[in-house]
Amino acid sequence: FADRDGYIWFDGELLPWRDAQVHCLTHTLHYGMGVFEGLRAYATELGPAIFRLEEHTKRLFNSAKILGMEIRHTPEQINQACIDAVRANNLSSAYIRPMSFYGSEGMGLHADSLKTHTIVAAWEWGAYLGAENRERGIRVQTSSFTRHHVNIAMCRAKANGNYMNSMLAVQEAARAGFDEALLLDVDGFVCEGSGENFFMVRNDVLYTPTLTSALEGITRDTIIQLAAEEGIEVQERRITRDEVYICDEAFFTGTAAEVTPIRELDGRSIGGGKRGPVTEKLQQRYFDIVEGRDPSHSYWLKVVD
Ligand code: PMP
Repeated sequence: FADRDGYIWFDGELLPWRDAQVHCLTHTLHYGMGVFEGLRAYATELGPAIFRLEEHTKRLFNSAKILGMEIRHTPEQINQACIDAVRANNLSSAYIRPMSFYGSEGMGLHADSLKTHTIVAAWEWGAYLGAENRERGIRVQTSSFTRHHVNIAMCRAKANGNYMNSMLAVQEAARAGFDEALLLDVDGFVCEGSGENFFMVRNDVLYTPTLTSALEGITRDTIIQLAAEEGIEVQERRITRDEVYICDEAFFTGTAAEVTPIRELDGRSIGGGKRGPVTEKLQQRYFDIVEGRDPSHSYWLKVVD
């Protein structure tokens, strides 16, 4: 992935892709203390448009604040860096990855001599959980790995180190032949996927877990707003694993995963094993908005011209 043409924004400069390197003593590589974001730009009639850019940048700065890291750029500069990364690579649609990390200025855990560096990369990335699964839905397994405890990892932060837990879970699920993992929280309640928030529908009500150790997803927030507009009742509350077994519909949300139906959990078919009508409606609205066909939320799109 390092050996390709293109440009990566690195501490304020657009560097040729192959030259955007760090040293092997990069602090974040050793201890995982870093923060990142994932955004998408969609191809629209007006050109590539970044979805909810300001909210993602805000979350990047909030993540850094939680970890006590100081990003040496302004939110406006990071917004512009995301735009520049899409433009410099001539992308019509893109996945965008800002990351702030500690450099190789020292090794101690105090991190007092360290500088925070920031990169923004952008590349073409199709449907994360498979294009055909947007309609067909995915097969999910409850993970044997528990999601973070809120006082062990800082779950409001999209922090690099938090993803060790996600990788353990998704790799375990994949080895067992499933598409994705569903992680439970320390109390045994449904939390989220390895990189997605969770929703389910029962008796026409949309439920999503309260945010304890799940990430405060921007797609989650989008879906909650769209459901309200559609007159669908939304409740945030604790959800048990057995409730999911008997729900009418379930789906994951995330920038990479978008809106992906879940057709099976632990060998139990959900909603007859296919995408349900509420999922389909919300998914349709989501894609109409992000791809610029529905102008009702055009303020969520930042056109890269
Ligand atoms: N949970 C986790 C653990 C994630 O990594 C992501 C992806 N950022 C999400 C939820 C969904 O967040 P968003 O909708 O902001 O992409």
